[in-house]
Amino acid sequence: MADAAKPATLFEKIWRRHVVVDRPDGYTLLYIDRHLIHDGSYFAFQRLKNRGLKMRRPDLSFGTPDHYMPTNTRNKEDVTNPDSKRMVTGLAINGAEHGVTVFDIGDRRNGIVHVVGPEQGITLPGITLVCGDSHTSTHGAMGCLAFGIGSSEVTHVMATQSLWQKKPKTMRIDIDGALGFGITGKDVILAIIAKIGTAGGTGHVFEFAGSGIRQLSMEGRLTLCNMSIEGGGRAGMIAPDDKTFAYIAGKPYAPKGAAWDKALVEWKALPSDAGASFDSDVRLSGPDIAPMVTFGTSPEDAVPITDRVPDPSTAKDATKREGLTRALAYMGLTPGTAITDIKIDRVFIGSCTNSRIEDIRAAAAVAKGRKAVVPSWIVPGSGIIKEQAEAEGLDKVFKEAGFEWREAGCSMCLGTNGEIGHPQERIASTSNRNFVGRQGKGVRTHLVSPAMAAAAAVSGHFTDVRRMKV
Ligand code: SF4
Repeated sequence: MADAAKPATLFEKIWRRHVVVDRPDGYTLLYIDRHLIHDGSYFAFQRLKNRGLKMRRPDLSFGTPDHYMPTNTRNKEDVTNPDSKRMVTGLAINGAEHGVTVFDIGDRRNGIVHVVGPEQGITLPGITLVCGDSHTSTHGAMGCLAFGIGSSEVTHVMATQSLWQKKPKTMRIDIDGALGFGITGKDVILAIIAKIGTAGGTGHVFEFAGSGIRQLSMEGRLTLCNMSIEGGGRAGMIAPDDKTFAYIAGKPYAPKGAAWDKALVEWKALPSDAGASFDSDVRLSGPDIAPMVTFGTSPEDAVPITDRVPDPSTAKDATKREGLTRALAYMGLTPGTAITDIKIDRVFIGSCTNSRIEDIRAAAAVAKGRKAVVPSWIVPGSGIIKEQAEAEGLDKVFKEAGFEWREAGCSMCLGTNGEIGHPQERIASTSNRNFVGRQGKGVRTHLVSPAMAAAAAVSGHFTDVRRMKV
């Protein structure tokens, strides 16, 4: 039993409030406040149907098709793959049958599930939120406990609005000191993962803290928490502050009037208490973080833009040496090559990591008055972001610079909608995974921030965006 008088972490406070029952084997039944659904949730609905079950609280679930819809059209009839078509069209059908709100294709609110939740005010501080997608950790930027779940767990949440979980440990990741000019949430999270490794946070929930984190906008914080899972974290969280409240205020599903005032009082009590202890602590110096670029096939294979491709012979053990050798062979890179000498074939700016308005503005600032020398796509995270960018004239900036301005969706992050690269194509991508084959068979993915991706698009190779006039 937790001691209510003991200083508690943000995670502990949220966890405690959501315990339905603790089981002697260490599992806890947690109440789930919000459940997000996407087109890949099709099979969870099928399972529900096969068992003759109904959704317990359809009013707490929200859906948006994102993974399987091509981003050159908004017509579902253009989906040629029959399996994809069934999933894209199935979400609205299942939603209507069960009474779930779905932001369908054609609705300006449609977009990537992890962009739509915060944008609509569905994601709020202090709640528990789940979704059948690994990058649900994104939502923790709003000061909530959010994590990805498997397909059978999706069915469990649909039927019971609760979920069995083992309580994770906590890790505080402090970014001390101000971030330098041109440093984004993407650079911070890549620097963290390069330091702790992809398994560094296994079994933990991260709380990102320190002046470097407070400095980030909500968009930057969403990017940071999005990739917590790539550092092994079960979830990533940031204590809500005035930036969080300003971001939420007025959003369609956010509390209003007296409910807002009441919520604000509760939200302000959420940050970790002074003296609260964490199972482990990690510290990075904010001013030391540079624009980061991945060179290998894991997000931990990241180095500053000023660095070189590492030599596997210097790796600390044989396993690491073999892994690095394999990764460089796949990536077609020679040890010692300067990162700025790596030429690219294509650019993808989008995904739930980096497709928000701030990301698009940052890429546009670099693209303005220049020309893309490789095929370059901009894929906004939602219809609303697309509209906002167009109202600011950013679509024109991109078109004049030879970039392709597309519709909202996951697109080349994973390519389940058919949008993939060619074998051996080298892509500067703002997404979150650079695994073997992630963007298509044989495709070589380098993870970067939106400004760095745009800089690569107009240079044809990786370039330190801090040296470009923007
Ligand atoms: S953008 Fe990529 S990581 Fe994010 S939800 Fe879509 S496929 Fe998953």
